[in-house]
Amino acid sequence: MKMYIGAEWITAADTIAVHNPFDGSLVDTVPSAGAAEVEAALASAARGAGVMAALTARERARILHKTAELLAARKEDFARLITRESGKVIGEARVEVERATETLTLSAEEAGRISGETLPLDAAPGGERKFGFTLRVPCGVVVAITPFNFPLNLLCHKVGPALAAGNAVIAKPPSDTPLTALKFTGLLLEAGLPPEGIQCITGSGAAVGAKLCADARVRKISFTGSRDVGEQICRVAGIKKVTLELGANSPLIIMPDADLDLVARATAVSGYANAGQVCISTQRVLVNNRIYSDLLDALKPRVEAITVGDPLAESTQMGPMIREEDAIRVERWIHEAVDGGARLISGGTRAGNLVAPSLVTEVAPGMRLSCEELFGPAVALTRFDTLEEAIALANDSRYGLSAGIFTRNLDWAMKFVRQVQCGNLMVNWGTQWRADLMPYGGLKGSGTGKEGPRYAVEEMTETKMVVMHL
Ligand code: NAD
Repeated sequence: MKMYIGAEWITAADTIAVHNPFDGSLVDTVPSAGAAEVEAALASAARGAGVMAALTARERARILHKTAELLAARKEDFARLITRESGKVIGEARVEVERATETLTLSAEEAGRISGETLPLDAAPGGERKFGFTLRVPCGVVVAITPFNFPLNLLCHKVGPALAAGNAVIAKPPSDTPLTALKFTGLLLEAGLPPEGIQCITGSGAAVGAKLCADARVRKISFTGSRDVGEQICRVAGIKKVTLELGANSPLIIMPDADLDLVARATAVSGYANAGQVCISTQRVLVNNRIYSDLLDALKPRVEAITVGDPLAESTQMGPMIREEDAIRVERWIHEAVDGGARLISGGTRAGNLVAPSLVTEVAPGMRLSCEELFGPAVALTRFDTLEEAIALANDSRYGLSAGIFTRNLDWAMKFVRQVQCGNLMVNWGTQWRADLMPYGGLKGSGTGKEGPRYAVEEMTETKMVVMHL
């Protein structure tokens, strides 16, 4: 496919091959942008910002509603492309397209809700005959950098609110899964987006992404990806607004009164969907000693029942990991934990990019399987005696994106939501649950700022204060 810069679909001297993570076959190639293409994208976006700011909110909403409509009509095409380039099972890819349609619709609705406030300046000393109000204006050029694991919906969480707010966007998709973003760019144009309102530039994150983030014409960066890259972006960004949606090693606390069948069902979804490559995957299950063996009995058959294989086959529940090096890393961290005294209950094997759904118990908090972000299909069990101990274990992490507790005790649940340092808190479900309208984002090393169209629109606009001296 070509990339879209300066109102044209263009190639570049170098290309990047996109391979199917399941069988290694070539899906397509994309251009690898160099310095000239980055400059062209920035110059075009700077012009596009003027065009976008001049559109009415009604027109911006219409474009986003139309894009949602086109996407819904081509759901299966998009879902199959997501599966082919990311390895996500087809059922999950279809859900991603449905969610992206919802994200665009929510964004379209927000276009008509961008408002300011009047200020009672006559309450201030010397404020007689003054009238004040705020205006919310677009940031201008928004750079949207996305990861491989939700190639469509995470892009829509940036592009939707940015366009709703009247910005021009430079989308920089990941090199593993750039095709969905390029196809989506075509949809925006078909829906009537002004040609310079969007750029979609493909190429190395370190080269292209870093140049975009450092450029003074960009006012807002919205990044979803790893913590290390988030830190690099902050180092080069300078004076800009930055939203960071980063990684995690999400904990799930199981109290003695939990419904263990429900826990097992939730963990099988929350720990292994998209082969564990979800930022809010349940990675650490912290289980009360009194119910430890009952939980293992309930969980083991659920994990072992997950079918692994070709992600395009309707019966497959879990597909490959995105890259073999990551599959090797997951296998290594599991074996490292076992060598250090943990016990393998299920899985622990690998064939190419396919890692068997794995369950490891007696995992010590200092083991990498517990304290680093795994981003793979394994769940680590650690035991505790008291809720205080469980909360301390949950908080013993540099991350703070999502956490869950299973209990019917209101006092325990309230203590958990007050004391656990995470942006998303689930009571009686796994850590991996999200509705696209929610404010979504992490605390601590999991990032800053919120997504969810209503909240992202706030981050993608700026406030001007106006004082009328009457
Ligand atoms: P990644 O950080 O390797 O890459 C993300 C994007 O950043 C890619 O488009 C990449 O090309 C680009 N990039 C790389 N180096 C860059 C640089 N120096 N400057 C600018 N851009 C650069 O992440 P990934 O492997 O694609 O995705 C997995 C990570 O994403 C995990 O850590 C996961 O937790 C995180 N994630 C977070 C959320 C969330 O909402 N918090 C959601 C999904 C994924």
